[in-house]
Amino acid sequence: MNTSLESRHETTRALRVNGGRLWDSLMELARIGATPKGGVCRLALTELDGQARDRFVSWAEAAGCTVRIDAIGNLFARRAGRNDALPAIVTGSHIDTQPTGGKFDGNYGVLAGLEVLRSLNDAGVETEAPLEVAVWTNEEGSRFVPVMMGSGVFVGAFTLEHALAQRDAQGVSVGEALTRIGYAGSAPDAAPPVGAYFEAHIEQGPVLEANDCVIGVVQGALGQRWYDVVVQGMEAHAGPTPMALRRDALLAASALVEAVNRIALERAPHGRGTVGSLEVHPNSRNVIPGRVRMTVDLRAADDDVLASMDAALRSFCAQLAQERQLTVQVDQVVYFPPQPFTPALVEGVREGAAALGLTAMDVVSGAGHDAVYLARVAPTAMVFVPCAGGISHNEIEDARPEHLEAGCNVLLHAMLRSAGVAS
Ligand SMILES: [Zn+2]
Repeated sequence: MNTSLESRHETTRALRVNGGRLWDSLMELARIGATPKGGVCRLALTELDGQARDRFVSWAEAAGCTVRIDAIGNLFARRAGRNDALPAIVTGSHIDTQPTGGKFDGNYGVLAGLEVLRSLNDAGVETEAPLEVAVWTNEEGSRFVPVMMGSGVFVGAFTLEHALAQRDAQGVSVGEALTRIGYAGSAPDAAPPVGAYFEAHIEQGPVLEANDCVIGVVQGALGQRWYDVVVQGMEAHAGPTPMALRRDALLAASALVEAVNRIALERAPHGRGTVGSLEVHPNSRNVIPGRVRMTVDLRAADDDVLASMDAALRSFCAQLAQERQLTVQVDQVVYFPPQPFTPALVEGVREGAAALGLTAMDVVSGAGHDAVYLARVAPTAMVFVPCAGGISHNEIEDARPEHLEAGCNVLLHAMLRSAGVAS
């Protein structure tokens, strides 16, 4: 290795992002759709989402990037590589939010990516492979279902036509909304190959904070099974009907809530079980509930474990129906298999954190992310940083500037490792 090459490698190792600039950009983007309680309401493909996209595009162009838009409205800001024919090393996330969302969920991953490009510009570093920052359309799934729509189309999880036809509660379709805000793009349908995908994200859980760690080395994402369950009993007058003769749907549903909790607890540490919604019919003070519609959300890190949770849920429901003389209908409506990330890239994140002298630990992602879809088509890894109290999807969502900066530095070095530094 000659001296100039050695010194170039040293320069690269010493590279750091500008944490102040990253923070300022986060705060500036958070003003678009800012809520009085300090959060952000910027639903996918609304006028505000359009304004936030405009801001991102102007920043990306100012950083020398070319921006392309695909037919589902995903944005890709590209910084050319020395060998521009190589598959791009991509990072990104989303800038749509929940109705009472925060400043960091998604936005951090996008702006951390932008900060990586800005820092490389400042240092005059050229990479072998091109770098891209992606803004994925409608990750949150709050206005339009399904969630992770843009990345889902990108990897072929469902078709473009299906996604464009989805409508919000007012009857506006995704296609119409994209056209209205000027982001119905024309980039070729066939997604270009991705050399590697990285996503930085706030943890959205309490594990890093509880362990006093700055960097979460994400091993993969939990698999998920979502169900719609209907318990059908018999409604009857609360006075004249003796206890022994009732077919109380809410009482049975209560037993099911307990069972879901138990099914998850028996599969610690990564089992999760949640009943988040109950609709009681007729929901009247003096009527024995005749019907309950409820949701069940089961998650696990291992597909066999998730399958065993599914079996346990179904057998409990069958037994419940028999014992209580009612019917329990269980329909699975969503299934995401567990998605491990790419070991070599995960290792790179771990080594990058160590080289930067940051405390780090292995974590799993309990939530879905665009990275979970990208992992189906490209080597993928994620970098988590703590958020206050593990709270997100909430206006009080908060994160510390130094943690965001640290995660961005890990992202920078992980991307450089994959992209190669030109010599
Ligand atoms: Zn997110």
